[in-house]
Amino acid sequence: MNNYDLIAGCCVAFSDFRFEETVSQHPTLPEYLDYLAKYCAHFQLWPHLHLNTKVEKLWKRASIDGRVSYSAVMIHKRDKNQNKCPREEVKATVETFDLVCICSGLHNTPYIPSFKGIYI
Ligand SMILES: Cc1cc2nc3c(=O)[nH]c(=O)nc-3n(C[C@H](O)[C@H](O)[C@H](O)COP(=O)(O)OP(=O)(O)OC[C@H]3O[C@@H](n4cnc5c(N)ncnc54)[C@H](O)[C@@H]3O)c2cc1C
Repeated sequence: MNNYDLIAGCCVAFSDFRFEETVSQHPTLPEYLDYLAKYCAHFQLWPHLHLNTKVEKLWKRASIDGRVSYSAVMIHKRDKNQNKCPREEVKATVETFDLVCICSGLHNTPYIPSFKGIYI
């Protein structure tokens, strides 16, 4: 197993889209990135994905018609290779969503707000 091997193709592939037969049972990182790109293309996910984007702030919006929604301040970082002026590196937008899943990974310092009734 070299440094670029993943554990096992059977474990990292989604059940609705398997690896191509030419990919080894222990795919390399480039193969896995290629698989993820094909997954996004197959399910037409690219228009919904914002890469190089940090969610800076998130809040629940006041509900007018009983429907809950969320707004987020999103910081879009441009690809370093396309940037000439450092001041243009970051652009912020505010966007609204029906649902939010927070999947920020294990390698983060959690921010846990304090509010009445919280029990940790
Ligand atoms: C060195 C190493 C090797 C590993 N090798 C394997 C392997 O070979 N096979 C395997 O199956 N698993 C492997 N794992 C485990 C696997 O990487 C994790 O289980 C998996 O990535 C967890 O996925 P996740 O989506 O929960 O979190 P992550 O993959 O950590 O994704 C969280 C994402 O959220 C983003 N994020 C965080 N905060 C914000 C924010 N405010 N705004 C926007 N984005 C944000 C982060 O940038 C990150 O991209 C390995 C892990 C490590 C550390």
